[in-house]
Amino acid sequence: MENCIFCKIANGEIPSATLYEDEDFRVILDLGPASKGHALILPKSHAANIYELQDETAGKAMILAKKMATKLRDGLNCDGFNIVQNNGEIAGQTVFHFHMHLIPRYEGDNVGI
Ligand code: 5GP
Ligand code: ZN
Repeated sequence: MENCIFCKIANGEIPSATLYEDEDFRVILDLGPASKGHALILPKSHAANIYELQDETAGKAMILAKKMATKLRDGLNCDGFNIVQNNGEIAGQTVFHFHMHLIPRYEGDNVGI
């Protein structure tokens, strides 16, 4: 998909702070983090939103979300965790390439989700 920033990041055309990569996904730190360790799971293949996402990719993304949440919890010692995924402008989506937010939560933080 031309001119999709997350396609370029996921496929390594634009450098990013990468926490994890495999043949299907890249996990990066969010540029405007809601909390310390806020990360994004990006599939390497383009889907604008959850409706377009292949079932196989959806399954793998959920397993990866579980792995990354556990890794981040262990590394950051956070107190809780949100996994957020926005579809459509009204829902807060600003980048139209499917992604999952991994948001570590800390006692007393002020994250509005
Ligand atoms: P959305 O609002 O679409 O669910 O989430 C988009 C997220 O991508 C936002 O949290 C925003 O901070 C992040 N973001 C937007 N552009 C970039 C970028 O170029 N690099 C990184 N690492 N994050 C980005
Ligand atoms: Zn894309």
